[in-house]
Amino acid sequence: MGTYLRKQADYVVVGSGPGGATAARQLALGGKKVILLERGKDHRGKWYYGTHLGCLIYCDKMGMQMTEEGLQIVRGIMTGGSTNLFCGCASPPPAWLKNKYKVNVDSFVKQTIGELNIAPLARPLWGRATQRVQEAAGELGYEWEPQPKFTNVSRGEPFDCGASCMLGCRCGAKWTANEYVDEAVQAGCELLTGMTVKEVLVSNGKAEGVVAAVAGGKGVLRVEAPTVILAAGGIGSPVILQHSGLSEAGRGMTMDTTVMVCGESRNEGMHLDPPMAVSYCDDKNGYMLSTLIDPWLLYPLIHTLRGPRNPLRFLRYGRTMGIMIKLKDEISGGVNMEGKISKTLTEQDRWRLNHASNLARKILIRAGCKPDSVFVGPLRGTHPSGTVRIGDLLSTQLETPFKGLFVSDASCFPEALDRPTVLTLIALSKRLAKHLLSKDKPKAKPRAKTKSAPRKTTAKTKKKATGKTEQPAAAPSDSSPVED
Ligand SMILES: Cc1cc2nc3c(=O)[nH]c(=O)nc-3n(C[C@H](O)[C@H](O)[C@H](O)COP(=O)(O)OP(=O)(O)OC[C@H]3O[C@@H](n4cnc5c(N)ncnc54)[C@H](O)[C@@H]3O)c2cc1C
Repeated sequence: MGTYLRKQADYVVVGSGPGGATAARQLALGGKKVILLERGKDHRGKWYYGTHLGCLIYCDKMGMQMTEEGLQIVRGIMTGGSTNLFCGCASPPPAWLKNKYKVNVDSFVKQTIGELNIAPLARPLWGRATQRVQEAAGELGYEWEPQPKFTNVSRGEPFDCGASCMLGCRCGAKWTANEYVDEAVQAGCELLTGMTVKEVLVSNGKAEGVVAAVAGGKGVLRVEAPTVILAAGGIGSPVILQHSGLSEAGRGMTMDTTVMVCGESRNEGMHLDPPMAVSYCDDKNGYMLSTLIDPWLLYPLIHTLRGPRNPLRFLRYGRTMGIMIKLKDEISGGVNMEGKISKTLTEQDRWRLNHASNLARKILIRAGCKPDSVFVGPLRGTHPSGTVRIGDLLSTQLETPFKGLFVSDASCFPEALDRPTVLTLIALSKRLAKHLLSKDKPKAKPRAKTKSAPRKTTAKTKKKATGKTEQPAAAPSDSSPVED
């Protein structure tokens, strides 16, 4: 039988992706006792980090997690979460987050852009194939913009950024949430890896801590804390919540469903170009396009799935160009308590996909791809999100119906973001940490009464005078704008 460990903290944070790493860092920097629990391990610095083999080790189900409908989902299970695999792209949140859902993270976005030097890569670094796509799109009347990046040339020695970035960055140019994990630990946060949180302890409608299984069946860990922040990602968090009594979690999800449109060029392909260096957003029709092709090992796999028409086509990987489509998909399907996922495309999603695929095809042909070589790849999900939505199960301050239980990861998006998520996630967690730290601040001492100071009679003081008990402050209302 395994051991039973017990710990206590001011805050317990579950999951060390961008949502959890940021929350843990900010709270630890604020002087709080924080325990950060992560299901995976830290694979950085290992010889296999950033290789195809590595990806099999730190991707959930070796990268082959599928929805019931056969959509492939990719997510990282290690410290830093899926930022180990991300393309390093940054986008500010869409305006609707502030205007429609009253969640204003503008100041945190601005602060993070400065702190992490987020900026587009200089044009000479894009690579020729990427430049050709941007030029071709422009000739057709579509202005593609340089994509701001978490990837910074000055950090990578030597800068070596191509399609393989999605296996894990080996040159160091790409920021990952691991850096915030490191900073949290330096500020005193206790990081425990190999801990799969199973449920939140709730008593009388209030969170009291979490229970986790220690990897390898080594026992159980119980962390007691008055505030719990779930950041186990769009799949992990709803599963934990369902096991904690919130059965509505996981009902419906968004995925920014992704499809690659690829073609064979007469010139050099895109595999050595930094991924997603330029992008195009069509907010009216609900999709985003970016330059990107898969790492090479996935390419023969995709061709095999397409049937035996041209089995040796993968040999032309070096001449392949690609455009990735991200759809603003509607809320559908969901995640059940066993972690099984369903994600259907609605009629509207299919229309969007067709619209975007047509445009991507036209641009690739204009950029020099042979028309009969252009194909649309299988459906993918790299942004599982929207499973515990703001305005539905979460208040604007990210609190669940259980007091002291917050969710700060991609689960909380109220709609598909249809663009890179990480900058928004960092900003949301910074805002949450600021809110929690301000609540914890000791109240200012009441001023000494002086005879000359006339005392104002307010509704509250009147109540006190009558001896009636004071009501607790109302929870943040979802309909009122919440300031930064
Ligand atoms: C190939 C790829 C490319 C991408 N490119 C970009 C990009 O360029 N820009 C961008 O902004 N976004 C990109 N994304 C998306 C982005 O990486 C994710 O949306 C983001 O990382 C989600 O953050 P999160 O904190 O919600 O969850 P995650 O990053 O998934 O982190 C969740 C963490 O929780 C841990 N966990 C899960 N369950 C438990 C549990 N029960 N107990 C304890 N720990 C648990 C996991 O191991 C993980 O570390 C990409 C994603 C992929 C896969």
